[in-house]
Amino acid sequence: MKYEWRKATQRTLLGFVAAVVIGLLFDVLAWSLALTGITYTLWHYLQLHKLQSWLDRSEVSDPPYGYGIWGAVFDDVYRLQLRQRKSKKRLKSVIRRVQESTSAMRDGVIMLNNYAELEWWNDASGNLLGLKDPEDIGMPITNIVREPDFKAYFDEGKYDTPLELTSPIHQDQVLQIHITLFGKKDRLIVCRDISQIKQLETMRQNFIGNASHELRTPLTVIAGYLETLIEYEDSIPEMWRRPLHQMHKQSDRMQGLIEDLLILSRLENNDNEDSQSTVSIKPLLTGIQGHAKALSAGKHTITLECEDFNIKGNATELSSAFSNLIFNAVKYTPEGGEIEIKWHKNKHRIYLDVVDNGLGIDPIHISRLTERFYRADASRHSETGGSGLGLAIVKHALLRHEGHLEIQSILGKGSTFSCELPLSRQSEVG
Ligand code: ADP
Repeated sequence: MKYEWRKATQRTLLGFVAAVVIGLLFDVLAWSLALTGITYTLWHYLQLHKLQSWLDRSEVSDPPYGYGIWGAVFDDVYRLQLRQRKSKKRLKSVIRRVQESTSAMRDGVIMLNNYAELEWWNDASGNLLGLKDPEDIGMPITNIVREPDFKAYFDEGKYDTPLELTSPIHQDQVLQIHITLFGKKDRLIVCRDISQIKQLETMRQNFIGNASHELRTPLTVIAGYLETLIEYEDSIPEMWRRPLHQMHKQSDRMQGLIEDLLILSRLENNDNEDSQSTVSIKPLLTGIQGHAKALSAGKHTITLECEDFNIKGNATELSSAFSNLIFNAVKYTPEGGEIEIKWHKNKHRIYLDVVDNGLGIDPIHISRLTERFYRADASRHSETGGSGLGLAIVKHALLRHEGHLEIQSILGKGSTFSCELPLSRQSEVG
């Protein structure tokens, strides 16, 4: 191009020099220059016209013949066009392959633009959510999937945890919806059919619930007989007394375990009878404080600070959650320790804090404490005789009140367990 440009400049200069010489020879300098200028402009104009009509053609075709610099321009543009056509072809084949592979997926994939309108989806989404191609293209997704839960989740914009939804077209199908934001608030939705996983989960929950229920009666009978036998200890041979006491202790533990399993299975099965009635917190916490004092047998100082407000919820579930935390504080705080129970709120949330200066927990255990049967320290557990289900019960009871548990602890210094509940749960009735 550089070479062509130099040649073009030389030719132009030469033309104008010739025009000056001829003009001077025949004494028509102005005319000669004007004529040369007009011819030069016209020629360039013609070449431009050629270029434009060539570019206007929709198909890539051979370039027009051009002389000098214009020939080089036509060739360069043609080369660029060929290169662009190649990369367009490559891109098209990549897009086709992506579309083909996502079409073959069993999970639904949907692309939305930044106005939340449907742009593209694969076949599986059509089957799972009932999207129709091409009628639904450009429609807002919330007009098609009208479930209020989906709309609330979609509008809130917090997509860290997926949403579980009953399919709008098959009532027995449970879907899991993941939304990812990309570009300028565009969204990618991935939806999976998790009906089978849900079914297995329900089967597991039912099995645990039923097994615990069936075990409760025989265990009550065994524990009852053991208690009666212990009452008549004196008439029992000496060698049987120790085993009898151990059997009684273990049957007590098993009863505690069965009760905890039953509470958990009731919390997990969504038959939430009543979570909207006003729970009077002060009498509830005073009652638990009394039981905690009995459990402590004077070995700890247990104080209660209670702000004067109540919440809407299920009294049995809240009592179960709070008492688990308070009794744990007694169990895991050595003699002479202090336990504070605080019911309070701020502008954002409602809190029940249970603070102790007991054994504390190693940070590596904290994130796993609410798992069923997880114990921070097996040796502690054999002394306290806990079931390992207490904090799982707390977690589930709070979840059913849109709350969660926060744990802070320093090994050897003590722990703070905070139940955090939304302010919307505060009850109007004082
Ligand atoms: P457990 O029946 O063993 O008490 P939980 O689920 O109630 O089961 O508690 C799980 C584990 O968390 C306990 O085994 C204990 O190691 C630890 N833990 C709970 N509360 C406290 C506390 N206040 N201080 C220290 N450790 C605690």
